Amino acid sequence: MTAIEVGDHFDYHEYREGLKLLQETRETTHLANRAGFDCPACGRSFEKLLVTEKRTNTFNSPPGPFCLVRTDDQMLVLTH
Ligand SMILES: [Zn+2]
Repeated sequence: MTAIEVGDHFDYHEYREGLKLLQETRETTHLANRAGFDCPACGRSFEKLLVTEKRTNTFNSPPGPFCLVRTDDQMLVLTH
């Protein structure tokens, strides 16, 4: 499967056919991977993707491994 491409800015609308929107606020977007996209950090398929523009974030510990990807103005958290 293809990996999502992350450059200066990540726009999930480019992957709308495969990323299901779970929740969206002004600065944070939660997405579920419905198309088996691969993680841009480790190359394995991920389950969920959080995109945040907030400067600080606090999370509950995910149940498995997770990857972090940074753009110029966002942090992406991918759970496996
Ligand atoms: Zn990964």
